[in-house]
Amino acid sequence: MKYDIIIGLEIHAELKTKSKMFCSCDNDAEGKRPNTVVCPICLGHPGTLPAANKQAIEWTILTGLALNCKVSKLSKFDRKHYFYPDLPKGYQISQYDLPLVYDGYLEINGDKIDITRIHLEEDTGKLTHPNNKKYTLADYNRAGTPLMELVTEPIIKTAEQAKEFCQKYRQILRYLEISDADMEKGQMRCEANISAQEKGKWKYEDGEIKPIGNYKLNPKVEVKNINSFKAVEKAINYEIKRQIAALEDGEKLVQETRGWNENIGKTVSQRVKETSADYRYFPEPDLPPLNIGAKWIKKIKAQLTELPEDKKKRFMDQYKFDGETAEILTGEKDLANYAEQVISELRAWINATGDNWERQKNKLAKISSNWLINELFKHLREDKLSIGDLKITAENFAELITLVYQEKINSSAGTKILEKMYKNGGDPTDIMSEMGLEQIDNKAELEKTIKKILTKNKKQVAEYKSGKENILQFFVGQTMAATKGKANPKTVIKILKKMLS
Ligand code: ZN
Ligand code: MN
Repeated sequence: MKYDIIIGLEIHAELKTKSKMFCSCDNDAEGKRPNTVVCPICLGHPGTLPAANKQAIEWTILTGLALNCKVSKLSKFDRKHYFYPDLPKGYQISQYDLPLVYDGYLEINGDKIDITRIHLEEDTGKLTHPNNKKYTLADYNRAGTPLMELVTEPIIKTAEQAKEFCQKYRQILRYLEISDADMEKGQMRCEANISAQEKGKWKYEDGEIKPIGNYKLNPKVEVKNINSFKAVEKAINYEIKRQIAALEDGEKLVQETRGWNENIGKTVSQRVKETSADYRYFPEPDLPPLNIGAKWIKKIKAQLTELPEDKKKRFMDQYKFDGETAEILTGEKDLANYAEQVISELRAWINATGDNWERQKNKLAKISSNWLINELFKHLREDKLSIGDLKITAENFAELITLVYQEKINSSAGTKILEKMYKNGGDPTDIMSEMGLEQIDNKAELEKTIKKILTKNKKQVAEYKSGKENILQFFVGQTMAATKGKANPKTVIKILKKMLS
């Protein structure tokens, strides 16, 4: 490949504060009628005064701390001017030269992706263009929602890395419980700046892409309208191909904004990009600058919870989970907390039996992670439910694990019991008795059943004896069927081997 790909990201996330950014309007407009959650301030009426939302400021600083950023001692809001019908004031209150936090990084698979800044601003209203109508509908419920914007340095190299950055960032926002960051709902919006430069003819210096010698840099293209993580990857990959093809054809690329069109799988030119001078930024005269002292930062830092990466490392360390298992278990904070509650219940149980927890914990953690990941989390995902909707208490889930661990039930019985608990809750031991699922481990009883099976299948017995040892599985299957799936497979195999030899 003759070109280097240079990608920078701008990610907007709506904060789920109680009220809007500069007024006391309800910040939760979901399901509410258009233009009912508005006031003279968020509609920008003359003579009104904004007041900044302290919670939104603290959450932005908190995000900065989670992403290794520095906090500005002095920060301020600025007006960014442009005209668009979804912007009632004719300007957006944003931050220009003094963002709340700056100079951070997020590690993606060992690569440090530098973060230039995270600043706070307000969201716009929403326009709808009904089909075949000559008008546009404007809803200002969203106008004034606190919007946190993160900007990365232009150092991302692939579409996949860009997608992973967005996913990790969302995970952190959810861990901090400051934004649901659902891309489909527009609560998180990713924009990518992409350019292709000839290898060896550019350098990255002081946060800027600079040409070497008399090389002329190719312009960057900003891609908007990306509504899912998959689309982040697809849109960037499309744009990389388009730019390289254009360069190879000797076509001249222009600095522009393009929109990702999911239906046709292409980016489409929207407008030639403004430069920051076009926005005529100036300090917002109605809001005082912010002095952010060490004491305030310390107070915010105290709210920092264990972050996904740290939790993952601790899970691997403490319970000896492999990386992949730990990654899945800590994917969402609620799931991770549930998993730890289950393990803590198991610990209490082991201690009560007088056994040594340190000796048993890795084995119990492994059984738990199998049942959590392959059964419980899978069900939740398929039904689009969260831990909050779950009818199974951590205590009952742990009890199910103890039944498996003690071999009171086999895994097929465990699955049946879990199905029932998932639907109606309940105690797994009770369900096991009710459904008669207790594992058959009685040697004499199993020997009787197996003897019958061997007598009935003389041909297969002869085959086994002539060396076809995998026919053993056939006999196991027959025995499981005869015991309605309740036999202990380990015992069955032991008996079968002995009888057949
Ligand atoms: Zn308002
Ligand atoms: Mn913005």
